[in-house]
Amino acid sequence: EREEFCLHYQPIVSIDGGCLLGMEALVRWQHPDQGIIGPDAFIAIAEDTGLIRPLGSWILGQACRQLREWSEAGLPVGVLSVNLSGRQLTSSDLRDSVVDAITATGIRPAQLRFEITESVLMEDVEFSIQLLRGLLDVGVQLAVDDFGTGYSSLSYLKRLPVDTLKIDRSFINRLAVDPHDSAIVAAIVALAQALDLSVTAEGVERREQLDALRELGCQAAQGYLLAPPIAAEDVPGFMTARREARPASCEPHASAFR
Ligand code: C2E
Ligand code: CA
Ligand code: CA
Repeated sequence: EREEFCLHYQPIVSIDGGCLLGMEALVRWQHPDQGIIGPDAFIAIAEDTGLIRPLGSWILGQACRQLREWSEAGLPVGVLSVNLSGRQLTSSDLRDSVVDAITATGIRPAQLRFEITESVLMEDVEFSIQLLRGLLDVGVQLAVDDFGTGYSSLSYLKRLPVDTLKIDRSFINRLAVDPHDSAIVAAIVALAQALDLSVTAEGVERREQLDALRELGCQAAQGYLLAPPIAAEDVPGFMTARREARPASCEPHASAFR
């Protein structure tokens, strides 16, 4: 009501060419006295109180409006990822509100990707499969977030209609240091390839992690090494600086998103 929420956007890039593949929308609360408050401090409360529904629908609408605005400005930001929390999934009108947000802004459904954590998806797998099918029909993309932490049964994973796995940053953190973590990441990348899913590593902070991920065949990465979450108004400047620094090889891909 006081319009104190805003979205920041964190780039997701291809490990091979360094091209921008998309951005993840991350909510913040701009508190008048306390400054910017991160989602870990209020998403759980919004879930418990049910306020996640109005908040979630504002986030979805805002992400779509922003995507529209960037498209119109000729900024090829790629696919925009939006997080969905557990309580949003069980809302009976989720699919309708997704359709409404897409229709109202005229974006292409394939420009939108929803991220749902593995643990939420595994709470009721049959329900999740139905829900994801409904969203897939709309034409959006779907990702399993925090993958590796939610005790997926592999047979269920095969049945979940998703296109991307996001490897939880706890495994990336000690990648190239702890052989066990390297083995887990290697196994997730191989699993994704076998199931024909794309895979994104989260929380990439150091060069050696990026090198190890490249070696393992992971396609995409997100993390402070590549770029922090950026305020919406700073995204055009970020894109311009990137365009100047990057070879034209990223452009054909980029133009596909216009
Ligand atoms: P997440 O979906 O796993 O989002 C990634 C988090 O990792 C973000 O924290 C991001 O700022 C942080 N991060 C990015 N790169 C790095 C890195 O290199 N190192 C480390 N240590 N962290 C990195 P943030 O923005 O504080 O969000 C925390 C969580 O809050 C998100 O985790 C997500 O679960 C939830 N969240 C954020 N925005 C939304 C939203 O719009 N809706 C819902 N339902 N949940 C959200
Ligand atoms: Ca996420
Ligand atoms: Ca995550």
